[in-house]
Amino acid sequence: MKKIGLLASILATLCISTAPAAQSQELYWATSGMYGPFNIQALIPTFPEAKQIKIPVSMWILNHPKGLVVFDTGNNVAISDGVENCKKYWAPGLCDLFQPSQKRGDVIDMQLKKLGFKPEDVKVLVTSHTHLDHAGNMGMFPNAIHVVQKIEMYQGWWPEKFQGRMGGAFVQADIQAARGFNYLELDGEYDLFGDGSVRIIPTPGHTIGHQSMKVKLPKSGTMIISQDAVWMQENLDGYVAGLNFSVQAYMSSVNKLKMMRDIEGAQILMSHDANQFGKMGDRWYK
Ligand SMILES: [Zn+2]
Repeated sequence: MKKIGLLASILATLCISTAPAAQSQELYWATSGMYGPFNIQALIPTFPEAKQIKIPVSMWILNHPKGLVVFDTGNNVAISDGVENCKKYWAPGLCDLFQPSQKRGDVIDMQLKKLGFKPEDVKVLVTSHTHLDHAGNMGMFPNAIHVVQKIEMYQGWWPEKFQGRMGGAFVQADIQAARGFNYLELDGEYDLFGDGSVRIIPTPGHTIGHQSMKVKLPKSGTMIISQDAVWMQENLDGYVAGLNFSVQAYMSSVNKLKMMRDIEGAQILMSHDANQFGKMGDRWYK
């Protein structure tokens, strides 16, 4: 028995020493320019006092051993470099409200280039929801598999009237540009690479089919990328966002992410929080 045990331990050691070093994923946080300044109450009507804010428009690049992933593509390239360009592509009122300052170099294809990638390298494009600041450049990724909640695509094409069908936050040209691509149409949670490292989590409320992403990183730990399930700290503090498809679903999603954070010891990374982006944005997480 002793000899067999010794042999087994030698074999185990050999197996470990000859196995290739496990590759790990890394995550980059970018912004599609900034919005503002504008009064926070334009976005969060429940906030008790007027306050001018400037906010990032978060996009994520995940370099996973099984392939490159982009999570949200920011504002369409056409609104870059000035309000006059913006007003040719978005409804003019949206340009006046958000005051986007996106430069051509801020757009997702240039962000990828800055990091040594090309849009053609992207294997999976995950879109949180079909609003103009998240689905703007889906059309740049014809070779990727697009991962969405199917119901969100229905809503993108035909929003409820109160959400704005003309000149609202769903820009038809953004999704029209990607209509013929390959879609993995989800109805719920999904383990993207089958290894638990990247999970797609439905977080409806802001829109009917909004989804967030949970990423496990070897050094930085678990990061919950909320996108618009949680815009900014004020929403975590309990001030309900405006622009919801369903306030009840929105509150359930915020609470779900908070409890997931507390149970797992994770961080929530928010889509439009200037302080958090200022401290943590424009860099890799390993
Ligand atoms: Zn947004």
